[in-house]
Amino acid sequence: MTEKRKYSRKYCKYCEQKIEFIDYKDTKLLKHSLSERYKIMPRRLTGNCKKHQEMVESAIKRARHTALIPYIIDTNNIVSNPFELL
Ligand SMILES: [Zn+2]
Repeated sequence: MTEKRKYSRKYCKYCEQKIEFIDYKDTKLLKHSLSERYKIMPRRLTGNCKKHQEMVESAIKRARHTALIPYIIDTNNIVSNPFELL
């Protein structure tokens, strides 16, 4: 069996940009590690290193707490524009 290597080696986006500290107020940075449903992306998908993944996770949790980004959206209730229903 040949090993599947479809994706080339991923690099940590935060290491690439030489980011030492991830500020929870910087939602642009957090978005690298958020899915479209505002879930935290697992490290194996984003290619983040362990250090930055832990940093971004705590930053996301803090950002949610301060209502900068929404909590996980209910998948049964996804409406891109709530006014479309009216
Ligand atoms: Zn990193």
